[in-house]
Amino acid sequence: MSDIESKNRENDSCSSSRRYSCVYASWHARYFKRFITTTVRTTGLSDYTGKHVSSWYETFAFKGLSVLQKAGGLHKFMNWKRALLTDSGGFQMVSLLELAEITEEGVKFKSPYNGSDCMMTPEHSIQIQNIIGADIVMQLDDVVKTTLTGPRVEEAMHRTIRWLDRCIKAHQRPNEQNVFPIVQGGLNPELRSECANQLIKREVNGYAVGGLSGGESKDEFWRMVHLSANILPKGKPRYLMGVGFAVDIVVCCALGIDMFDCVFPTRTARFGCALVRTGQLNLKQVRYRKDTRPIDESCDCSTCKAYTRAYLHHIVTAETVACHLLSLHNVAFQMKLMRDIRRSIKDQRFPEFVQQFMLDVYPDKNYPSWIINSLEAVNITLK
Ligand SMILES: [Zn+2]
Repeated sequence: MSDIESKNRENDSCSSSRRYSCVYASWHARYFKRFITTTVRTTGLSDYTGKHVSSWYETFAFKGLSVLQKAGGLHKFMNWKRALLTDSGGFQMVSLLELAEITEEGVKFKSPYNGSDCMMTPEHSIQIQNIIGADIVMQLDDVVKTTLTGPRVEEAMHRTIRWLDRCIKAHQRPNEQNVFPIVQGGLNPELRSECANQLIKREVNGYAVGGLSGGESKDEFWRMVHLSANILPKGKPRYLMGVGFAVDIVVCCALGIDMFDCVFPTRTARFGCALVRTGQLNLKQVRYRKDTRPIDESCDCSTCKAYTRAYLHHIVTAETVACHLLSLHNVAFQMKLMRDIRRSIKDQRFPEFVQQFMLDVYPDKNYPSWIINSLEAVNITLK
């Protein structure tokens, strides 16, 4: 794990497991139009971990692996020296491939490009991720819809554990790449506990919590995160998949989560929305037409240094570069949030940070009950 840590650490010697804290957004052209690695470096987003979601779904389908192989892996191919994480494709199965059929062997699906039959097994998924060469690679998991109940949830949980063992066995670069297992089990506390307790018996350097943030209530959401994080070892990174709202990030850090990923910052940028501490600014609104302030006066991203809300309002519906400028700001916002969280943990004032953060978001103190309850579960009482 030291390699990942050193790649991402920035003046950070925190002894807590949260020293691994990082946030990253999906790293694909669909999400980051015209967003290239040199841009990320020159805009100071230096502890950003790239996430390449297209590990099998696109690289496999596009037969692009030989290109990556020739380039010597994804780090060299995209000129990115810091940490990279690749997803296994489990999530894409339920979200993108309606005709996928899951069996014990793997996932059978029709190629969206030529209609031919394809089979993705846990071994294939790791093989592909070994070629891509990311620092963190995800196991192939059997993902079901978050709100599903019944025997299929239990079957998927047990299969996820069996597929983890197949992934670990097939892993060809264990000294360079870290396989992260994924806690599944839907919204059933017994199944989640059983899954997490099985996963911690495996020799790995970090863990993910998956299958959440998919339509369940916030109350169910935080309870599953809390339960999973409590079982997973505190000295290893705990990564919550698919979560990116600032309030959720703060709550889940309090519950013990160290890493997040989400398309939200860049997706909302494409809709003309800029993230700020108190929520979002929809720059399409006419109220910003003559607003000569930057998105956020305290933000030192290149967008806030150079452009006014009025200018961004003017181009937001006309120029695609507006989505690029807002994406830069939104990713800078997420990075700063995580840096602030890390700093408050190091300074032993994290509870006070959480109290102030929630007060900024809810100045009338109309805190949703799930936030009050989740924070009280870790002894943080809101003011
Ligand atoms: Zn900014």
